[in-house]
Order: sequence, then C-alpha cells, then structure tokens
Amino acid sequence: MVEWRRHIHENAELSGQEVKTAAYVAKHLRALGYEVREGVGGTGVVGVLKGARPGRTVALRADMDALPVAEASGLPFASRQRQPYMGTEVPVAHACGHDGHTAMLMGAAEVFAGMRDHISGTIVLVFQPAEEGASHELKEGEKFGAAAMIADGALQPKPDAIFAAHLIPNMPRVIAYKTGPVFASSDVVKIRIKGKQTHGAMPWHGVDAISVGSQLVNSMQTIVSRQLDISKEPAVLSIGKFIGGNRNNIIPESVELEGTLRTFDEAMRRDAKARIRKMATLIAEANGATAEVSFPPGGYSATINPEALMNAMVPVLTKVSDGKIMSASKLMASEDFSEFQKEIPGVYILVGAPPVGKDPATAAPNHNPAFDFDEGMMQQGTKAMAGMALEFLSRQGD
Ligand SMILES: [Zn+2]
Ligand SMILES: [Zn+2]
Repeated sequence: MVEWRRHIHENAELSGQEVKTAAYVAKHLRALGYEVREGVGGTGVVGVLKGARPGRTVALRADMDALPVAEASGLPFASRQRQPYMGTEVPVAHACGHDGHTAMLMGAAEVFAGMRDHISGTIVLVFQPAEEGASHELKEGEKFGAAAMIADGALQPKPDAIFAAHLIPNMPRVIAYKTGPVFASSDVVKIRIKGKQTHGAMPWHGVDAISVGSQLVNSMQTIVSRQLDISKEPAVLSIGKFIGGNRNNIIPESVELEGTLRTFDEAMRRDAKARIRKMATLIAEANGATAEVSFPPGGYSATINPEALMNAMVPVLTKVSDGKIMSASKLMASEDFSEFQKEIPGVYILVGAPPVGKDPATAAPNHNPAFDFDEGMMQQGTKAMAGMALEFLSRQGD
C-alpha cells in the first residue's frame, strides 16, 4: 500500500486530469478480478465485485486528485509534476492526502477479492476525480467530480450505502466520527458593483464604487453575526478578493468582490445567499450604484452523516481501531461526497494521521505545501473502510 501511495504521490495529477492514476487503479482492480468501468464522469473508475452469495450492495469512495501546489514536503518521492490549471501550467502535488485515499481503497479492493467466497452482496468501489473542484472555469450546469460520476452511472449497481474517509494530519492517530454535519457547504460569492467613474477631486460627478464596496464588505459581516440563527449551526462569510481602481485620483467605474460562504444547513445556505443578494442590491441602490451578485456553479452541499447509519458503524470502527476512536468536530472545509449522500445514505469518517514524530497541533495542514501524513495510518483507514462495508452487508435490511 505504501508503494502504491508513493507511486501516485510522485505522479500527482490535477482534478479532472487523473489519467495515469485512473489507469493505475483500473489495472489493479482488473488483476483482482473486479468488473471495471473507466472514464466514468471524466477520469473516474468504478470497480464492481460480486460476492459468492446474494445480498445488499455497498460502495466505498476514494478521491484521486492532487492540487495546484508546489510541494515542499522534502519527501524523496515528492511530486515534480506540472499541469494546466485555469489556463496556466502550475506545479501539482498531493497536498490533501488523496494519494493515500486511493491507496487505501486499492488495499480494501485486495481485502474483498481475497474473501469473495465469504461476501454476501456486491461491493462497488468508486475512484473519483476532481474532488477539489474543476481545473477550468465551469459553465452553468457543467458537472465535475462526484456529480459528474453520478450522472455518468457510477452508482450502478445502485448501492444501499456509501462510505468514505479522509486522512487528517492535525488529529491524533485515531478514527474520528460524527453524526450530522461533518463538512460545510461551500459557495463562491461574486459581486460586481457598478458606479460611475470620475476624478478623485470631484466625487460628486460620479458614483464611488469603492466606497459602496467597502460599505458592503462591512455590512455583510452582520449576515452571519446578526441575521442567521447560529445557535442552530455555525456559518462563515469571508470576502477574500476586492479589486478596483488603478490610480489614486480616479474613482473607478466598478469594483469586484469575491468571497466564500460556508454553512452546515441547506436552509441556512439558501437564506444566507438571499440575504447577500438583498444587501448588495440595496446598499448599491442607496448609493446610486448597481450590484450584480452571483454564486458560480461548483458549490458544494454540506456533508451530513445520517445518525442511524453512522451509529451502526461505531462498533466496527471501535473494533478495527482497537478502541482508538473519538468523536470529531465539524470542519469548515467542504467535500463533494455530499453529492453521493443526496443519492444514497452515506457516512464520512476521518483518520488522524500526523506525520511520524510530528505534533498534530503543528503538523502542516491539508493543502499546505509541506503537507504529509503517517503512511502507517493507511492500514487503519483500509480496515475502517473495509470494516464498514462488510458490517453493512452483514446487517441485512436494517
Ligand atoms: Zn483538499
Ligand atoms: Zn481532501
């Protein structure tokens, strides 16, 4: 498993471009006797293994994509790959541990193949591209990642449940689980404010888009702090981009703002979006400007673990981890595993894997150039994934 992980790590590929990784996975699955479908939703791979006896169908999912990150892990198998991202060539590295997830699921594939005679039911292994989002600007309605795989029939035969896991270096070496929301929803917020360009010395001849944008950034902070019921679930709205103007004494025609909205509840997500729209429109109007608000395609829903299914898995997770299990906190990061959860019951767990000798509190986090994880914990991840699948198959009909 370590060898597979290192091979995938060294040959890191960006979202939607996981050609070599997909071929590597497909070859492995075929050699184990899986029925394999390639090119599912782009570069996705689906492997199906029918057990000796009939039963339910269970799916496991791993993501295969790397990130536009220049690796600084110092590992001997560090990536030196470069690929196109949003129109330019960039360095590519597995800075989120998806190389580990892919290797873990390849390991689980081997476990199932070795015990096929004892399996009642069908195993569906989903190796997913583009979990981190597309590497190009999405057109309205264009699907990527999990949604693209689902649209392309990845969930055939239809599983009764699906499971996935994420390696996290900033957690102790335990399996962490949580019922309810695990990962936040994520939406890009884009706002364009149009005023009227004028001389900085004579603002009364124009409409100051910079002043309107500034008011809006401040006012929008009250959406989470004063308007959403954050006693129910937390939420975050951050503006990370504010572009406008090119000279000290020219008040520009327009400014552009971009931010990210995170919630853990679909109703709060809709509500926050409506409030952003309203606030931008009305603040602009009050100042004689106009505002265009959009939430570009590519947003993620919250990842929410159904209580009954999650709780049903706790005993097997406790067993495979020798009791090294803890309850997790929700994370403001996002996961398109939520797309699978819209189709079938799904559970997402976390595997703490700080690099050997590193304190989880100070280990380089996911998406950091120095990101790394303890390869030894991949065993735990595989055991947890395989354990949950087999446990689910053994619990006929509940
Ligand atoms: Zn990531
Ligand atoms: Zn990730």
